[in-house]
Amino acid sequence: MIRDLRVQCQDENTSLAPYAVKNSESQGRVYPEEQHPFRTDFQRDRDRILHSKAFRRLEHKTQVFLSGSGDHMRTRLTHTIEVAAISRTMARSLYLNEDLAETISLAHDLGHTPFGHAGERALNKIMASHGGFDHNLQALRIVDHLEIKYPSYDGINLTWEVRAGLVKHREAGKTKLNGKILPLHQSLEAQIADLADDLTYYGHDLDDGFDSGLISSEMLKGMAVWERAVERVKETGLAEAGAERFESYAIRCLIDNMVRDAICYSDKLLTEQNPANSGIVRELDRKLISFSPEYEKETLELRDFLYKNLYFHPKLERLNGMSLSRMSALFEAYTRNPEEMGNSAIKRIETDGLYRAAADYIAGMTDVFAQKEFTRICGLLI
Ligand code: MG
Repeated sequence: MIRDLRVQCQDENTSLAPYAVKNSESQGRVYPEEQHPFRTDFQRDRDRILHSKAFRRLEHKTQVFLSGSGDHMRTRLTHTIEVAAISRTMARSLYLNEDLAETISLAHDLGHTPFGHAGERALNKIMASHGGFDHNLQALRIVDHLEIKYPSYDGINLTWEVRAGLVKHREAGKTKLNGKILPLHQSLEAQIADLADDLTYYGHDLDDGFDSGLISSEMLKGMAVWERAVERVKETGLAEAGAERFESYAIRCLIDNMVRDAICYSDKLLTEQNPANSGIVRELDRKLISFSPEYEKETLELRDFLYKNLYFHPKLERLNGMSLSRMSALFEAYTRNPEEMGNSAIKRIETDGLYRAAADYIAGMTDVFAQKEFTRICGLLI
């Protein structure tokens, strides 16, 4: 007995909510393909992302702490896996399409540069007069153009639903995909990936902050979202006072609280609105995947705390300066001597121009490779 595509699509139609995106409703791929006998289109997209070079490079890209700076620190890859796992839980609980939510989650950070957000800011500055740089748009560029695998086209030819899910920031009536205006909001599955991204980094950046010694639980005292997590820890009988077990379990409770809140409040909004299909969801005047107003306020407080005490900590700020100088040096070197770049980047000069080809090349680098290139080209030891 084989659970083939026909059976899987039938199951989707009977087991998912009317407002979930079904494979049978997909707007398809730019280059039409035959269906796979055992995998739905979104499952194939997930596998294409997992098998992409850009996905493998996430292992050596900075999340917050420079790649390699600690054995337990998150990298872009582990962050991405955590986002995908939470997205699946949320999608499953709300009768939405797990495969689509997971696929968008796995692809959401493909466009990140080396050296984390500092690297992105640096590349955006360098590219200011050549169209700028944005990691969300870069993720789409990677799956549409930069991955080379198929015989007759560039990119990995993902479905419209996954590609649209990567276009996060939209302007009403202006943002386009393939020349067509995108609706104001994303599918519920893409909204899940988006919220899961936020709550995942709130939890793990705090965790890595503890690990690095830059943040202590003392500093979080009085913050509502943290106190709620601490209450759950104390119920277990664990004593406070900065112990590893206490902090780790509090992070676990914090993440669990946020996921539960997001599922329950989104369910309330979905029940109230009861959209008849996935198309209507995209045209509504608000997102339906959301924290409750209470958690929205409390998580923003945590976000502000992370910005002040972690992302802009003097120790990490040094990384910002270093990223700008290293990426500027590489960009200058490659635009002066394009033959220093890899073969596929050199080939793209003709179609995309020298500056975009150099930006794509630098953006794709892992921290490790960017540092090696900086040493090779600029002749400086790190
Ligand atoms: Mg992310």
